[in-house]
Amino acid sequence: MGGPGSGRWYRGQCRKSIVEKSLAIAVGEFHGRIHPYSSGTLSWRLWTGERSSIGYYVTWTNDGPRLMLHYVWNDSENIEIPVHLQSTPVYFGGERWWFTCPLIVNGVACRRRVGKLYLPVGAKYFGCRTCHGLTYRSCQEAHSEERTAKFFAAHGSKLDAMLPRLTGE
Ligand SMILES: [Zn+2]
Repeated sequence: MGGPGSGRWYRGQCRKSIVEKSLAIAVGEFHGRIHPYSSGTLSWRLWTGERSSIGYYVTWTNDGPRLMLHYVWNDSENIEIPVHLQSTPVYFGGERWWFTCPLIVNGVACRRRVGKLYLPVGAKYFGCRTCHGLTYRSCQEAHSEERTAKFFAAHGSKLDAMLPRLTGE
């Protein structure tokens, strides 16, 4: 059975707006909430002024904790994505959590360990920046590396500004 994004994915989208308008969730938002039966809602105001939200709950699997993200896509379809979570030890004790990118691109599961997942305009599923082509490196109209760096420097704060806020428990 294919996972989210099976057979539906296209790389190298070049629209400038796609980075600015992506919704992003950061694994840090879930700090202290990764435990069995944890659930809640992520909500934020869209660039259009509308409010949007997605729900989540945590389940435990043999591979460790799994974050289930659920939301209504395009006002018509109920989407539920399983996102496995990984942890790495931190030197001063404890652990740091990461998302495992849930997308499958050209039949290959991404599984990149990332701190943020993005939902660009028009996309149906959250995925890592690489899967969503949110870099000019995969763009046919590629800018120079220097310009790419400047672009992300200029837009990084906008992405962060759009991070949803957690409500509920
Ligand atoms: Zn990915």
